[in-house]
Amino acid sequence: MLGFGLFSGKLNDYLSQKPNRTCDRCELLTPRDEMECAHCNDLNGAQLESLKEKIQETKLSNMRLSDWFLYASLIIVFLFALGFLV
Ligand SMILES: [Zn+2]
Repeated sequence: MLGFGLFSGKLNDYLSQKPNRTCDRCELLTPRDEMECAHCNDLNGAQLESLKEKIQETKLSNMRLSDWFLYASLIIVFLFALGFLV
């Protein structure tokens, strides 16, 4: 029953994963059972602001990337529709 033991071990690992919470300061996910946020605990006010700016920039560039995928899929759909019409 070695295989089963390995499986239940993995299952226990999965079940014991701790849920995250959103940090009030930096709005990143941090383990719920830790009082101090791993991301912004040792940052001062100015450093926190630059961290927030970086997060915002990352969000914006991700948004641009997903926009690009949206346009690309629209173009593909358009080309398919054109193919049916011709
Ligand atoms: Zn934080």
